Amino acid sequence: MHKKLSVFLVGTSLFLSVAACSSNTKPSASPPAMADTVKMKLTAEETDTLSAERLLGKINPSKEENFVRIPPQYTDKSNIYLHKDAYQAFLRMAEAAAAEGFFLQIISATRTFADQKRIWENKWTGKQKVEGQDLSQTIPDPAQRAMKILEYSSMPGTSRHHWGTDIDLNALNNSYFASGKGLKIYEWMQQHAPSYGFCQVYTEKGPARPHGYNEEKWHWSYIPLAADLLTHYARQISYQDISGFKGAEVAEKINMIPNYVQGIAPACKDWKEE
Ligand SMILES: [Zn+2]
Repeated sequence: MHKKLSVFLVGTSLFLSVAACSSNTKPSASPPAMADTVKMKLTAEETDTLSAERLLGKINPSKEENFVRIPPQYTDKSNIYLHKDAYQAFLRMAEAAAAEGFFLQIISATRTFADQKRIWENKWTGKQKVEGQDLSQTIPDPAQRAMKILEYSSMPGTSRHHWGTDIDLNALNNSYFASGKGLKIYEWMQQHAPSYGFCQVYTEKGPARPHGYNEEKWHWSYIPLAADLLTHYARQISYQDISGFKGAEVAEKINMIPNYVQGIAPACKDWKEE
């Protein structure tokens, strides 16, 4: 294994390539340090009991024994949760960032199927306008309407936020991260987040990531857990499971699973188990 590839080894058998996490901007001057404290993977017990409900976000995070509530020190929300391993890794990362003057604030973490259904259906029905439009009027075609909503919001049952592994940091717009303090934070994240297990899954779209959600510089995924969840998603979830909300019938037509669920930055996906 070559350090130049920004690969970090945890334990003895698992490693993650993170090079493409920074592929859309200046490469880091040096590879992230190895993180011997990053805990890999779900426990065997969790994996054994990993249900379709868990993968689809049909959970109550406050009742999940492996989830923790994020304290007010790190979020402006009153009642949001993360898987404890993702939270502990975030804490280490946030403390390191703070030491360099960068405040990482979690503005979204676990969102349930019900949370996502509310967001999605508000846009689907026009209750919430998208780009100033009532999409139920301006885009009558269901597949087209879903594609429009997907520019901003994920479809219920397909969001990584269901898993307790993913966080949105500081601001939900790329422009915040394009200059000033936001740019400095983003550059710090690109250089250091991988060594804490976090990867920017929705990088700029292009040949390496042709489909799926638009770039989200605020969305970071705790790969040591999320990689397992994605693997289980691929095995266990079919389009029949993506149901129970308005517009669900177009999920297969628009290739939700290969293009969106699997449509993440290649480096974030590039898990190897030996
Ligand atoms: Zn997000």
